[in-house]
Amino acid sequence: MLKLLKNNNPLEGRTEGRITCSFSTRACGNMSLSYGNSRGVLDNRRKFLSNLGIDYIALVCAEQVHGTNVRYVNQTDESSGALVYDNSIPNTDGFITDVRNLPLAMFTADCPCVFLYDPRKPAIGLIHAGWRSSKGNILGQAVELMRSKFNSRPEGLIAGFGPSIRSCCYEVSGEFRGYFPSELTEKSGRFYLDLALVNKRQLIASGLKEENISETGLCTHCDSEDFFSFRREGKDTGRSLSVIMIK
Ligand SMILES: [Zn+2]
Repeated sequence: MLKLLKNNNPLEGRTEGRITCSFSTRACGNMSLSYGNSRGVLDNRRKFLSNLGIDYIALVCAEQVHGTNVRYVNQTDESSGALVYDNSIPNTDGFITDVRNLPLAMFTADCPCVFLYDPRKPAIGLIHAGWRSSKGNILGQAVELMRSKFNSRPEGLIAGFGPSIRSCCYEVSGEFRGYFPSELTEKSGRFYLDLALVNKRQLIASGLKEENISETGLCTHCDSEDFFSFRREGKDTGRSLSVIMIK
């Protein structure tokens, strides 16, 4: 496990050194200014990001409302939400950009974060893909926006998943049968959702090649040592930071 986390790069081996991307573990501390203990958050971010060659003051952060809006961001958005949550880009759960040295950030505890990379442009995306956003196909919207903004070809896009709660632990109510009929497993009358599979299928439906999608397979709920988990610890738990930047 620790070996897997050493690099923390969900796109390892696929990026040829042109981008930096990573997610923080529990040992890095809480990264959210809106959830969990906010003391020391900026210091936690500074330490984690400086190891990646990223200035924590430059972070572009989203309000993260579990919606389906994906925004193109550029230099004028630099530092949005980096020091104060209220300055985050409002009503947004996904970013795309082609601007170098502009670090995109998302904060999660159980929700999947999906990293997107178009090596041709180059361009990147970072999507907070909880179940509500996935129900609205936020990943389809992200791919479409990369296509219209950057002329990205979906078959050339590379995607990576950070750790998230997996079907081993993600029990949901019966109404989810109507939302995700093909990705639910029933065990002893209970329903478990494989949200990463939902996201993967949405990417493939948007034109990505399966071999260009990689994931850690790590479950944030199973591994309390390495990850925060909303399901395990409640809403006041800390948040991990997912970050991606074109170098
Ligand atoms: Zn699990």
